Amino acid sequence: MDRRTFIKTTVAGGAAVSAFGFNLAPVRAQTQALKIARTTETRSTCPYCSVSCGVIIHTLGDKAKNAIPQVVHVEGDPDHPINRGTLCPKGASLEQDILNERRLLKPQVRRPGSDRWEDISWEQAFDEIARKVKDTRDQTFVEKDEKGLTVNRCEGIGWIGGCTDTNELNYLAVKAMRGMGACYFETQARV
Ligand code: SF4
Repeated sequence: MDRRTFIKTTVAGGAAVSAFGFNLAPVRAQTQALKIARTTETRSTCPYCSVSCGVIIHTLGDKAKNAIPQVVHVEGDPDHPINRGTLCPKGASLEQDILNERRLLKPQVRRPGSDRWEDISWEQAFDEIARKVKDTRDQTFVEKDEKGLTVNRCEGIGWIGGCTDTNELNYLAVKAMRGMGACYFETQARV
């Protein structure tokens, strides 16, 4: 039997029996099943623009201890009131954003005067951010304005949120920022 005949016999018909006597019907049915048939669905929000479309992220993996979940598909959420299942090309390509070898997985910093970014640990990033926030707050805190009115505000720090931030995160962020006297707030979902 040549290669062409073999393929025709085993695959093309789909019905029945291969040249070796196996029943190929279940095999063919399996290949036609949706690739998301056994995935875990996780609802999320497209991070790209202020429209904030809802997405469903399909992850494969049986949740066994040593299994690493793998994202296999991202699609619009048909139950989401904003986009009702639709996505623009950017949102439709989210899977390539998630599974991307150039995706940053650790903090980076570019020092003053440097032309390159360097990797740092999360601990170092937390320490440096905390130090700079405290110093900036101390240097730019205004107790009274030019008319002598007590304002107690920090004019050197602003905060910008994103459309994927949850209500809970925003609550904590505003609490923390207001506690320092910050008054400049914006969100990417409004831009
Ligand atoms: S899918 Fe497109 S329109 Fe919707 S949030 Fe993402 S980038 Fe914006």
